Parts: sequence; structure tokens; C-alpha cells
Amino acid sequence: MTYVIAEPARTALPVSGEDGLFPVHRIYCVGRNYADHAVEMGHDPDKEPPFFFQKNPDNLLPAGEDFPYPTKTEDVHHEIELVVALAKGGQDIAVDQALEHVYGYAVGLDMTRRDLQAEAKKLGRPWEVGKAFEQSAPCGPIVPAAHIGHPAAGAIWLKINGETRQQGDLDQLLWKVPEAISYLSGLFALQPGDLIFTGTPAGVGPVQRGDQLHGHIDGIGDLEVRVV
Ligand code: MN
Repeated sequence: MTYVIAEPARTALPVSGEDGLFPVHRIYCVGRNYADHAVEMGHDPDKEPPFFFQKNPDNLLPAGEDFPYPTKTEDVHHEIELVVALAKGGQDIAVDQALEHVYGYAVGLDMTRRDLQAEAKKLGRPWEVGKAFEQSAPCGPIVPAAHIGHPAAGAIWLKINGETRQQGDLDQLLWKVPEAISYLSGLFALQPGDLIFTGTPAGVGPVQRGDQLHGHIDGIGDLEVRVV
């Protein structure tokens, strides 16, 4: 096969404890998946079915690289999130079989141009400008479930310059990982290489140039990112 233009590069993430890379297909994100974050964004967590948006695979920012403060915004927010990496795809996946599709987990950040997202919400427009911009998805290495199992509880937090800004526990997820996979697979044909950012606990807020972000999830690891 030859292409008529230069072939776009495939995005891939390193895998903890393995030599190979994890090739990324799509990035799905779950909205408002912790009750305390739904409340801080002005919503009733008891009334909402899960909803999803996407980022582009090449929006990923691998660990060790700086996050460049993006264009056209003055209010970039951090959202620390558990990331699920799929080894197998499927449609209409049953909740009790969903974890069989998981390759591993990572610590990720759903960086958000909150001002542009808020304007899009107000005008009933899509969220892409707020969510799917360059380097908007910092993500640590994929940690295989074969090594750590499937964490359903454990601390998830984010510090900025050593000060805690977000703190929660994976057991506070409104839609648990198997439920999110199952629900998503009814909407989209999931594929090997898909990532799912599973939502953020309360405490989201702005970042500034020069900030050092330190995210952590018990049992998975740490992600450190500098805003430049
Ligand atoms: Mn998010």
C-alpha cells in the first residue's frame, strides 16, 4: 500500500514492565462520573445517565513531556482521571464480561479549556474546542491488568506545586469501569487500543504556566507534568 501524502504517525504509549508499546485507537471520556464533581459543575448526580465525548489519539501527551499552555484560552483546568486501556473490542458487551476486554490502566489528565467549554455549553455547541486540543490528554504508561488486577478502589489525587487540589477514591465512580465499558459499547464499536478516561473527582481548577502537576492513583502510579 502506498499513500498519496505522508502517512500520519500512529500514537502509542509505553507499557510499564513490558518492552512493547500500546497502540492507541480512540480516546473516549466519561463526563461527570464522580458525584462531588457533578455537584461542583452544577448538576444533580442522581439524575444523569452516563455521557461521553472524545479526544483525538494524537492529543495524548506521554509522561516526561511538558504541557504547553494552549491557545485561545485563559482558563485551562486539570482533571485527574483513571484511564482504561482496551485489549479487545466489541459491541453490546455485558457488564460481567467487560473487564475481560481490559489490557491495563493508566493515570491521565483530561486537560480542559474551561472557558471555551462553558461557552460551547451555553450555546449548545459541541465540546471539541474545550476538550480535544493538542496535548490535552497527558497520560502515564499503561500498567497491565496482568500485573495489578482491576483496581476498583484506591486514592486518586492531584497536587499542584505540592498542594493537594483534587482528592477522591475510585470507589466513588458513579459508573464503574465495567458499566462504562458496557454502556459505551452500546453506542460505539469498541476496538483494541481504545482508551477510556473515566471522569474526575471534585476539585478541578485552573493551571498556570510554571505549575508542576503531580497526579497519583493507588496501585497504578504517578504522572508528573509541567505546564510551560
Ligand atoms: Mn474529564
